[in-house]
Amino acid sequence: MVDENLLVNYNIMEELRPKHMPDEIKIWDETLRDGEQTPGVALSVDEKISIAKMMDEMGIHIIDAGFPAVAESERKVVKTLAKEGFSNSSLLASARTVHGDIDACVDCDVDEIATFIAASDLHIKYKLKMSREEVIQRAVDAIQYAKDHGVVVNFVTEDSTRSDLEYLTSLYKAAEEAGTDRIVISDTVGFARPAVMKHIISHLRERLNIPLSVHCHNDFGLATANTLAAIEEGVSVPHTCINGYGERAGNAPLEEVVMALEILYGYDTGIKTERMYELSKLTEDAFLVPLAIHKPIVGENAFSHEAGIHVHGVLAHALTYEPIPPEMVGRDRSFFLGKHTGAHIVEFKLKEKGITAPKDKLIEIVQQIKFSAETRSKEELRETIHKAQEVIRKSRGGISEEEFWEIVEKVLGVKV
Ligand code: MN
Repeated sequence: MVDENLLVNYNIMEELRPKHMPDEIKIWDETLRDGEQTPGVALSVDEKISIAKMMDEMGIHIIDAGFPAVAESERKVVKTLAKEGFSNSSLLASARTVHGDIDACVDCDVDEIATFIAASDLHIKYKLKMSREEVIQRAVDAIQYAKDHGVVVNFVTEDSTRSDLEYLTSLYKAAEEAGTDRIVISDTVGFARPAVMKHIISHLRERLNIPLSVHCHNDFGLATANTLAAIEEGVSVPHTCINGYGERAGNAPLEEVVMALEILYGYDTGIKTERMYELSKLTEDAFLVPLAIHKPIVGENAFSHEAGIHVHGVLAHALTYEPIPPEMVGRDRSFFLGKHTGAHIVEFKLKEKGITAPKDKLIEIVQQIKFSAETRSKEELRETIHKAQEVIRKSRGGISEEEFWEIVEKVLGVKV
């Protein structure tokens, strides 16, 4: 791109570069665990294998395969995945800080385990019904137990960004001494602001001597921003989910985190980004959770242009209105014809077919396009969209309210 020097790129200015950015970043993908916890989603073993295989081929560094203690079926899936033998990805499974969960992971023969417990007083009091000291003991015991089994150990705290920072630090220090290989700071309900995330991470970076990881949720649409803020302060193992899937509003999307690192930070992730769209589509097809049309990078509209001024700009130089070259994520740009269409796209499309037309005819074609687009029945479109939304709602996985009561009636032998 010869004209790049016509743009001011603040992102790469020395005085604006983050000081604590790690030299090496490993992407830890959570699609097959947290992602699968998207309401209504259940993946088959074949679906998990094909998604994991593509991630491996693309060079995703760590893949969380699942939570073997959840069910016998889940254990089988994780086991099958571990047998696949990936060439680039390290396979990980999740466990609570209890021996049975850790045994289940070890039994699956994964490379790494992530053992988790909550750290906020709210979770400790109401969910765990434990004391802060008991949490530390449980964590230390689980880490030592897992280390004794020869796996890479990641210590994860839930709700870390709503935990007392002094307590969190002492918990992590105990985990570090117990031999954990990494620490995972979770913004479990997406509650941190980027500046808060930076504060927490820099506090921990100064007091711990161990690789840090971060797990950010998207409840306020800040998952990517918080993940990048954490990386700027030294986090080297960010969690992501393909398409931003996951509990509630989901997790930091893989595609956003990777492309931001590549383009906004000039960082080489080593990931084959040109397969990003293919991975997104494969995963959407397994999850059956349709993506928003305007979703960054992988949404239908992410590389499409309609407005005359924009189309004119892109045709003259793609960088005018495209911050990401579409081919870099395996996509094509598209031009949409409608109310905002201008003459340049018409001229461009005609030229492709070897047709030339005088200016007044081009204008006439544009006017007819605008007229057709504006006079299409909005009511008809609205009805179609509503029907499609209804179909999507009804097609979600899981069990419907009616099916639930049918099961209850059958099991209890009562009429509800
Ligand atoms: Mn999560």
